[in-house]
Amino acid sequence: MRNWTGTDLISFYQVLHDSYGHQHWWPSDSAFETIIGAILAQNVSWNGAFQAVCALSEAHLLDPHSLYNAGPSLIAPLIRSSRYYNQKANKIMNFLEWFLSSCKGEIAKMMAIPTERARDELLTISGFGPETVDSILLYALEKPIFVVDAYTRRIGSRQGWFKQTATYAQMQEYFMDRLSPDVALYNDFHAQIVNLGNKVCKKNPLCDTCPVRIGSGLPGCIHGKNQQTIQSPEII
Ligand code: SF4
Repeated sequence: MRNWTGTDLISFYQVLHDSYGHQHWWPSDSAFETIIGAILAQNVSWNGAFQAVCALSEAHLLDPHSLYNAGPSLIAPLIRSSRYYNQKANKIMNFLEWFLSSCKGEIAKMMAIPTERARDELLTISGFGPETVDSILLYALEKPIFVVDAYTRRIGSRQGWFKQTATYAQMQEYFMDRLSPDVALYNDFHAQIVNLGNKVCKKNPLCDTCPVRIGSGLPGCIHGKNQQTIQSPEII
C-alpha cells in the first residue's frame, strides 16, 4: 500500500479543489438542521435528503422540541423522499431523546461536550454509525474529525492508500494520522472525495476525465485505468 505523507494528501486535495472549486458543505441554516440532514442523508442521494429537510422546515418542525412533540407518525410521511423513512423517523426520535435529556435541546451544550465523549455518546444512539456521528461532529459541531464513507473506500483503495477491505477506523486513521486537525480542510476534503466518487471515480471509473489521473502531477491510481503505476516505489 502507499504510505503518503500529509503533504501528498493535501496536494491531492488541492488538485480536486482547483478542478471543482470549494464544495461549501454542509448546506443548511443551522447546526440542528445539519444534524437532521446527516440522519436523513444515510443511504440516499443528497437530493432525497434535502427534500425531506425542506418538508420538515415547511412544517415548522426544524426545532428540537417541535420535532420531538410531532413524533414519528407525523415525521415519517414528511421525510418520505429520504427512503427508509419510518426507520429514519425513529432515528430522529432516538437522537432527540438523547439531545433533550443530555443537552436540554441546546446546540451550545452539545458543542461543549469534549469531542471523544460526544462521539462515544452519539455512537450509543440506536441507528447511528460512525459515518453519521462523524458527519454531525464535523459539519454541525465543527469538530476536527475526518469523515470517511463508501466513496473514500473506493477512491482510497484505487489510490492504494488502504485495502478495499479496510475498516472505517483504518480509513479514518489514514487521514487523521497525516493531516493536522483542521476543520476547514476536513470539511472540504471529504466533500471533494464525495464529489469525485459521485461524478468520476464511479464503479466504472471515468479515468480519462479525472483530475487526479496520471499527468496531473499526482502518482495516479494502482487500480482503474491508471494501474500502470502499480510498480511505483511508493507502494510498499
Ligand atoms: S484516475 Fe480513475 S480510478 Fe483513479 S481516482 Fe480518477 S477515476 Fe478513480
